[in-house]
Amino acid sequence: MIRILYLSQSSRGTTDLEVQRLLTTSRRNNPDLGVTGVLIHGGGLFMQFLEGPDNNVMRLYAKITDDQRHGDCQIIHIAPTVDRVFQKWSMGLIPCDPLQFHHITQLREQRYESVPPKTFTASMNVFLRMLNSARPADAAPPGKSDP
Ligand code: FAD
Repeated sequence: MIRILYLSQSSRGTTDLEVQRLLTTSRRNNPDLGVTGVLIHGGGLFMQFLEGPDNNVMRLYAKITDDQRHGDCQIIHIAPTVDRVFQKWSMGLIPCDPLQFHHITQLREQRYESVPPKTFTASMNVFLRMLNSARPADAAPPGKSDP
């Protein structure tokens, strides 16, 4: 399995209704792909964490990058993994407000600095734990891939 965290700029005119639509699509498609994760939206940014079988995650990410509802996708973190952080969510939605926004911008900065890999991974794990404990406000029912 693989996990990816990316950041993107939401397009002008991407409304809350559009975000709800893409969540509905994600929740329909992701269980069949064995993909779980969370989508964070707010302040003109999307951040999405995807985890699942390597090929399915990479193909899905490629499809997502073509979506006109956002642009400037930047992978912040990509790593092989043996377990899931968000096994309960085919795609959970976390509005940005409950989170400290500076974590997001910090991660973007770290991507381009020469942070030692161990430090980056440690910071990433803290961030993922924080996301996990935020519990998506608008949670999807468990996917077919759930244990
Ligand atoms: P369809 O049934 O063809 O479309 C579903 C709905 O989305 C329709 O109402 C359609 O009008 C609308 N739509 C589709 N593509 C676009 C587009 N490019 N621009 C505007 N509206 C469009 N998809 C997933 O399956 N899983 C994910 O985890 C996921 N995460 C996403 C995260 C972000 C930030 C964004 C922007 C998109 C995400 N998507 C995700 C959507 C993905 O980009 C594709 O639109 C979707 O996978 C198409 O699936 P489908 O063929 O079943 O959808």
